[in-house]
Formats: sequence, structure tokens, C-alpha cells
Amino acid sequence: MTDYLPMTVGGVDLDAEKRLQILNPADGSPVGETPDAGEAELETAIAAAQAAFPKWAATPWAERQAAVAAIGQTLLDNADELARMLTREHGKPIDQAAFEINAAGQWCLATSSYADPVTVVEDTPEHRIETHHVPIGVVGAISPWNFPVLLSMWKIGPALLAGNTMVLKPSPFTPMTVLKIGQLLRSVLPAGVLNLITGGDHLGPLMTSHEAFGKISFTGSTATGRKVMQSAAPTLKRLTLELGGNDAAIVFPDVDVRDTAEKLFWSAFTNAGQICVATKRAYVHEEVYDAVRDVMAEMARTLPIGDGSQQGVAFGPVQNRPQYDRVRDLIADSRASGHTVIEGAAPPPGDGLFVPVTLIDNPPESSRIVQEEQFGPVLPLMRFSDEKDVIALANASEFGLAATVWTKDEDRAMRVASQLEAGSVWINEGLALSPFAAFAGHKQSGVGQENGLGGLLEYTNPKTVTLRRVPVAA
Ligand code: NAD
Repeated sequence: MTDYLPMTVGGVDLDAEKRLQILNPADGSPVGETPDAGEAELETAIAAAQAAFPKWAATPWAERQAAVAAIGQTLLDNADELARMLTREHGKPIDQAAFEINAAGQWCLATSSYADPVTVVEDTPEHRIETHHVPIGVVGAISPWNFPVLLSMWKIGPALLAGNTMVLKPSPFTPMTVLKIGQLLRSVLPAGVLNLITGGDHLGPLMTSHEAFGKISFTGSTATGRKVMQSAAPTLKRLTLELGGNDAAIVFPDVDVRDTAEKLFWSAFTNAGQICVATKRAYVHEEVYDAVRDVMAEMARTLPIGDGSQQGVAFGPVQNRPQYDRVRDLIADSRASGHTVIEGAAPPPGDGLFVPVTLIDNPPESSRIVQEEQFGPVLPLMRFSDEKDVIALANASEFGLAATVWTKDEDRAMRVASQLEAGSVWINEGLALSPFAAFAGHKQSGVGQENGLGGLLEYTNPKTVTLRRVPVAA
């Protein structure tokens, strides 16, 4: 007997005729079922969001702040149960699942601290000019499978705080924890403010082309992002697109080798490498290349890979079959091309979608493993000798999501960071996201931003009110 979770629409259960089967990638066993919604259920969800919008938009800012904070607190209060469910459907180690739920909760608390962003542009005897930021209306949100809860909350928090209502669709690979959160939030939010629907990949295009949505907030691959943009064009929807990346790390020779190699390893392999801002190609200076590679290889060979529900496991499986096939295809391509492949600890036997943590030792720049986004537990390491050349290589990509620089020399670090074409550059650490810092993809890694005040403003339309003061008769 597996769990079934209904959708939350208008504050109550909504089912669909068909269902999605959710599998545990650690062993292929069924985790549960969720509705496979279609057009009819989407219309019901949109109607609920539209009905709730006028009252929610008119709700005082402070009350909406309290509601977003209450969402965060609900996640924190239920973190253990939610983390267990997340590990079962996603595969990530239980401590990383707990980290995701807690981070999502903290993110909502942080978002709730933003005051209503009104700007008084002029206040003179003649004029008062104020720019307000009003909600857009009903927002459609689509999230991916790698951080199903955190990346959904990055959308829900600011959208609701700004006074929008929402229909959110998580990935069909990982919908259960989000649906569980929907049930928990029924006592926290007015009915219809947040509607959660699940369905296969057919549901996304139905959403992005629907005229009822004033905005689509999408996180996923660049290929799908292009389709979203196209489909949003006829009604000129506002768009936030958080897309793919091929993030470069640049390691200079003055680093503390072991410390840097360990941090670089986790920057690449946390969540089995399935992070949009994971290090996806590492350029290591020739003076420290062998030493850095050897520390990382030792970690790959000794850290345990297995079912994420077991304590002490460092890497779970790849989350789903298409991604598993893609990562294995990239590794096979490297082997066929004669690259030196360093394979990490062997995974447990069985039907799990495990790929050993793998390093590719100095493949040519033109190889697929360097040029393409792997989004999994394999990392190419390349030798470099010249600062200018390595910056050019790091920038030679259609992507521009994030990058890391590793050096004790702050001048060099800032000089290199200023030349990297990426929305986030981290120095001497990786994955250092903050709810208050802009997160944005340059080039084909995205449009717009999440997080920070700018991320909140993306869920609003600016509205300038100009008062021409006229004399009032005494
Ligand atoms: P994906 O593009 O396959 O799917 C993302 C979501 O879009 C899913 O919910 C999916 O059901 C839906 N979808 C599929 N086809 C659609 C369509 N035609 N129209 C609208 N929606 C559609 O991506 P994924 O495999 O779930 O996630 C991995 C990708 O996401 C990687 O490229 C990764 O880099 C990227 N990502 C980016 C960020 C970021 O913030 N920049 C964060 C996480 C993941």
C-alpha cells in the first residue's frame, strides 16, 4: 500500500482521473501516487486563484508578511516528517533533505522581513510622486526536481508577500513533499491563495500559454526555458526564468590544497551534483593540479554512496531515469574518447539509479563533458597555467549562472571575479546562497532574478502615482 496525496486547490482536496506513480530512485520501489492533472483541473485551480486574488491583494502588507512567516514556521515545525518524505521520493541523503526543508523555512522567514517597497520620488509643495509595487495577479510557477521544496518556496514566498495568488506545479518526478506541504498550509493561508497541482510534462505548456496568468516563474533547463518564453509571448506575460549552467571553478596555486580540494569537491558533488550552481568544470593551476585531483579522488573513493534514508550516506542516486541515462552517456562518451576516468566508491547492488562519483582527468576543452551541463555526479578537471586564458575558457559558454574562484590573494580574486560572466561568483566557497542576495542567470542561464529585493519586485508591477498639489481655499 503506497501513499496517495491529493492536490490542494481552493483550500481543499482536488483529484484527477489519472495518477502519477512516484518511484524511489534508491531502489525503484513505489513511494506513492499523485494526481495527473489536465486542462480541467488546471481551470479549477486558476478559478480558485482568481477568486482569492482581490481579497489577498487588499490584505495589509503586515498580514501578508505574517502569512509568509507562518509558511516558513510550518516547514520548520514539520521538518523531520517532510525530510523523510523528500528522501524517499528524491533519493538525497536524509541530512541534505533536512537541510533543504530547513533552508526553505528560513528563506520564507527572511522573505517575510521585507517592508512594502514604496519609494517617494519627490515631495515638494508642487508635487508628490510615489512609486508603489502592486501585485500582478495570478502567477503560474513551475519548479524542477533537484530541490523541489526550496525552489518552490523561492517562488511562493515573494509572490504571496507581494499580494499575488499562485498556481504552482512541481516536477512530476518529485511532487509528493510539495503536496504534503500544501495540506499543512491549508490552516495557514486563505483558500485559493496557493494552489498546488501535479501532472506530467503536458501540464507545463498548458500553464505557460494560459491567458489567466500574468506571470510565469519557471526554474528548469534552458531548453524548456526557451519554450516557456515562446509560449508566454502572445499574452506578454512577465517572466522569471532560472535555467541551466555550466559553472566553472578556477583554482590558483596559492591555495591550501586539502582545504580547497575538499570544498571544491562539495561544491561539485552535493546533492550528487544535481544543483544548478554546482561546479560543473574545474580549472586547476598546473602547480597544484595533481594534489587537488588526488584529494578529490580519495574522497570519491571513500565517501559512501547508497540509499539516502540510511545515516552516514554522502551521495544518493541520480533522481530519475532520464537524468541517469544522460549522466552515464556522458561518462561513456569520455571513456570512448580515451579520457582518464577516475571512478569513486561502488554503489550498492540492486535497481537504484546510482552513478559512482566520477572525475574526468584533464579531458580536452572540446569534449562533451566540458561543454555540456552534466547535472550529476561527474566532474571534469582541467589543468591551466595562465590567468587570462582561464578566464576566457570560463566565459566561453552560452551559460552564465555562477562561478567560483579559489585563492588567498584578494586582489586577484576580485580582479578575476569582475571578469567572469556569471550572475553569482563565490570566492573560496561554493553554493553560498542568501535569501537577501540577487540570484540571476546571465546569458542563456536565465531572465530576471530570484531572491533579494529585486526578486520580490519581479512579482509586482511598478505603479507611479503623481499628485499635483492644488491650493485649497482657506
Ligand atoms: P526541465 O526543464 O525538464 O523541467 C522543469 C519543469 O518544467 C518541470 O516541472 C517540468 O514538468 C516542466 N516542463 C517540462 N516541459 C515543459 C514545457 N514545455 N513548458 C513548461 N514547463 C515544462 O528541468 P529539470 O530536469 O526538472 O531540472 C534540471 C534543469 O534545471 C537543469 O538544467 C538545471 O540547471 C536547471 N535548474 C536551474 C536552476 C536555477 O535556479 N537556475 C535551479 C535548479 C535547476
